[in-house]
Amino acid sequence: MSYVGRFAPSPSGPLHEGSAVAAVASFLDAHASQGRWIVRFEDLDSPRNVAGADRTILKQLKALGMNWDGDVWYQSTRLPHYQAAFDRLLAQQCVYPCGCTRREIADSVLRQQGQFPDGERPYPGTCRQGLPAGRQALSWRFRVPEGVVAFTDRRLGSLQQDVAQAVGDFVLKRADGIWAYQLAVVVDDAAQGVTDIVRGEDLLSSTARQRLLNQFLGYPQPTVWHVPVVTDELGLKLSKQNGAPALDLTNPLETLQKTWKLLGFERIPASDLTLFWREAIRIWDQAAQRANLHAC
Ligand code: GLU
Repeated sequence: MSYVGRFAPSPSGPLHEGSAVAAVASFLDAHASQGRWIVRFEDLDSPRNVAGADRTILKQLKALGMNWDGDVWYQSTRLPHYQAAFDRLLAQQCVYPCGCTRREIADSVLRQQGQFPDGERPYPGTCRQGLPAGRQALSWRFRVPEGVVAFTDRRLGSLQQDVAQAVGDFVLKRADGIWAYQLAVVVDDAAQGVTDIVRGEDLLSSTARQRLLNQFLGYPQPTVWHVPVVTDELGLKLSKQNGAPALDLTNPLETLQKTWKLLGFERIPASDLTLFWREAIRIWDQAAQRANLHAC
């Protein structure tokens, strides 16, 4: 199967050092495998979209010498496809309506299980057997089967998550009517024939959920490689929300060298972008081969 990789930013601001790491790593992996590298804007969470951020991101990628293959996709144009996938899950009785508000879920979890310091609180299953009397459907949840989801990350090796325990039945359609990231991402990765996902480690905790959805929708399971997340001096993930500055493009080669270093590699003695990419792809290929051996 020929390699298809992707970079899937949300258009909520320009690329910063953190998002550049995911972009560069996915680009390198696709090129080291003589594959295609596509760009997809995950713009479903419309309240977070920033007008023009998509064009800025594309300009930034071009300035770094990162040309994508084929057309750029926008998830906002693909709503019927998410509905179709959702309907298939509904027909399998894997989806149910939930009438709980966030507040109620937080309260009941705190009562039952104590604090969850990292923000992720497993859904306690309140509406699993049907909406309580007098309740209206707010969101729609995936009925997570019991058991462990195991997978191999090309960098981190064998991993597993008990999704029912750690996350519980998760949302596919939000109370505001927006399709959840977890559903849209698997529908689009399958539709675009993505074979290999390279992205930040902050999304590692979503991987098992996505593999479950792939399984129930009959989609192939892409390989995954999660790259380290870039943090600031306080150890917080660099993000648009935390005000990470836009990537400095006054000297694209220097910016790439910096991103390359964040990926754990030594500076490449290259005088232009073409030479930089040629060498970076060669080195990445060697590292990927070593990692694949380690992952087997
Ligand atoms: N849209 C997600 C983000 O910007 C990335 C999704 C993915 O790579 O699976 O963090």
